[in-house]
Amino acid sequence: MQGLMMDQPLTISALLTFAEQNHGESEIVTRTVEGPIHRHTYRDAARRSRQLAGALQRLGVRDGDRVGTLAWNTHRHFELYYGVSGMGAVLHTINPRLFPDQIAYIIGHAEDSFLFFDLTFLPLVEQLAPKLRGVRGFVAMTDRAHMPTSALHGLLCYEDLLAAEDGAFAWPKLDENAASSLCYTSGTTGNPKGVVYSHRSTVLHSWAVCMPDAMGLSSTSVILPVVPMFHVNAWGLAYAGPMSGAKLVMPGAGLDGERLCEMLRTEGVTFSAGVPTVWLGMLAYMDAHPEIKLPALKTLLIGGSAMPRAMLEVFETKHGIDALHAWGMTEMSPIGVVGRLLPKHAGWPRERRLAQQAKQGRAVFGVEMKIVDDDNRSLPRDGKAFGNLKVRGPWIARSYFRGEGGEILDKDGWFDTGDVATIDADGYMQITDRSKDVIKSGGEWISSIDLENVAVGFPGVAEACVIGVPHEKWGERPLLLAVCKPDQTIDTTALLAFFDGKVAKWWRPDEALVVKELPHTATGKLLKAKLREQFRAHRLPNTAAR
Ligand code: ADP
Repeated sequence: MQGLMMDQPLTISALLTFAEQNHGESEIVTRTVEGPIHRHTYRDAARRSRQLAGALQRLGVRDGDRVGTLAWNTHRHFELYYGVSGMGAVLHTINPRLFPDQIAYIIGHAEDSFLFFDLTFLPLVEQLAPKLRGVRGFVAMTDRAHMPTSALHGLLCYEDLLAAEDGAFAWPKLDENAASSLCYTSGTTGNPKGVVYSHRSTVLHSWAVCMPDAMGLSSTSVILPVVPMFHVNAWGLAYAGPMSGAKLVMPGAGLDGERLCEMLRTEGVTFSAGVPTVWLGMLAYMDAHPEIKLPALKTLLIGGSAMPRAMLEVFETKHGIDALHAWGMTEMSPIGVVGRLLPKHAGWPRERRLAQQAKQGRAVFGVEMKIVDDDNRSLPRDGKAFGNLKVRGPWIARSYFRGEGGEILDKDGWFDTGDVATIDADGYMQITDRSKDVIKSGGEWISSIDLENVAVGFPGVAEACVIGVPHEKWGERPLLLAVCKPDQTIDTTALLAFFDGKVAKWWRPDEALVVKELPHTATGKLLKAKLREQFRAHRLPNTAAR
């Protein structure tokens, strides 16, 4: 017997139509690339997105065509999210921090028909243009008054395109499984691979992240996505905003501590999200300016790489802000788990509660997780056993664009995340490492992330990275590389002693070196492969390793 409910497709345009009709006056506030603060509402954005869709149609963009963007978090980028996907085309958000050759590669691989870009990226686009033979036209995301003089062939102006349309465009009824957007992984190994989201996966993911135990968003929320719209759809916030009716505050290119604090304060932001590096910058700024208060700010969602426990504590005790840990990946739209506590944790002693909060978190409904050993045998959910983390769910990729990388699911349909983790009896998952970064000492695994978390709690350490370096007896041993806070020093002997009692004795790094800086990927992760290469021949001092 079949259910007798309507078969209504889940589409991205419906999110904006909902916001237009039910939260029409909720604002989208943007720090524009041109300078001034711009304000409009979901009602305005809905009309302008329809105008954009009309303009794209006039330019010859058809169902399934890819439209590229090189842009910050702004109201215009938001309109592209809806105008492009809503009309049936595929929004390809490009990470401008990739190497220019990689950018040219992915634009070619995606076969982008048009490229929309913020003025910041004009020099980059001009440099790449000779290699972008398939791109039919370039659109500067600005108004006539700010149009640059450029030799770019057929350069168009965003506001002119919109002005020529009346906004009467009607969103087509699309197949909910049709592609809506495309995002390439940063490709630390090999070429970047394209993850293709669908309307259905995007709407379901959005529902899940709005839930109280996930991001907990509603019409009373004021959201500032620090995480860029060019990195996994700003973790879904550009869709969750209209779905919940929340006010959106778009920081544009202003991601430094000073400009972030200003936007957070003046717009009364209650919820923000970004990678740990951004918050380190903001904490340093707030340390230097103790007069800054952010009374409205309740929650910071922190993910992309491990949130150090020290960060959690500082936000809580010094600023009264909940730092909420989350984990996910481009292939997962991206949210997999969020670290909200359960009622029983309220009664736990502080240290124990903080340790629980430092875990990446519990799955949101829709995401199934398991850990397995190297023979694909399931491991217990006891918070101790760690193994390869596998996931399954309706917003998780089943294949990369154009079949790159071949078959990516196992025979039961699970996707191997490449992360190593524990899962406890309440379902809290904790990442212990990337499988390729785990340190294998004497046949046992050492978690580099655990060691880094300890190191950043030591006075003077701004950032820490632990890698395995070859060792005659043990195969590999941990080497700690630490970056010093400005105007401070690090006593490396005391730093190594600091590990005593915090981790197993044989986990303690054999050596600590102070380095000027650490290399990062385009998405802010430590480039450990590069460091392993650099320190391959490094000889650790003789220590009794175990
Ligand atoms: P990329 O473009 O580099 O693939 P992703 O954002 O997709 O960027 O990276 C996903 C990976 O980032 C995860 O598999 C995991 O290793 C790491 N990651 C994400 N969030 C966390 C977290 N909270 N703690 C530790 N690692 C994280």
